[in-house]
Amino acid sequence: MSGGVTKFKKIIVAEDDSIVRLDIVEMLKDAGYDVASAVGNGEKAIELNETEKPDLIIMDIKMPKLNGLKASKIISQRHNVPILIVSAFNQSEYIEQAKDANIVGYIIKPISESQLLTAVEIALAQSVKMSALRQESNAAKEEVENRKLIEKAKGLLMTKMELDEEAAYQKLRKLSMNHHISMEKVAAKVIKQLTK
Ligand SMILES: [Mg+2]
Repeated sequence: MSGGVTKFKKIIVAEDDSIVRLDIVEMLKDAGYDVASAVGNGEKAIELNETEKPDLIIMDIKMPKLNGLKASKIISQRHNVPILIVSAFNQSEYIEQAKDANIVGYIIKPISESQLLTAVEIALAQSVKMSALRQESNAAKEEVENRKLIEKAKGLLMTKMELDEEAAYQKLRKLSMNHHISMEKVAAKVIKQLTK
């Protein structure tokens, strides 16, 4: 592994078994990850997610105070951070309970180094892809909203100022250029003016 080379990926580890926790932390650090913090219960994991804004959380299921699945659900409601579950073999059934949590992988204890690092790499790669997709979809939604605004403003100009479609569009365009503001902003202003 690329020991000592930081990968600039921040990871939080939540595992109540201190030996397993230390093991995981060491494997991650050896592989060059930045382990922001390692904690022993779900509540702490939630707190740390808020303050550390990690790229990934590695979460045990059975932990005191708040179990890993409940903590995962709460964290997923707040952020899009991917969560990798580490658990004993017989706990896989519980994963069903956390379908709406952003769980991207599941590793069974005892954990080997190659198993852990592979799962971490995949989880991080997937999360980069997912956030790119989210950005694209947000941009597409914004584009649709902008077009709707422009269409609405155009329609108002056509009816209230008795312009044809082309003239209404050109009017918006001219306002946009003259005032150095975007078409959608002009459209919003026009709508506000004409619907007073
Ligand atoms: Mg445990």
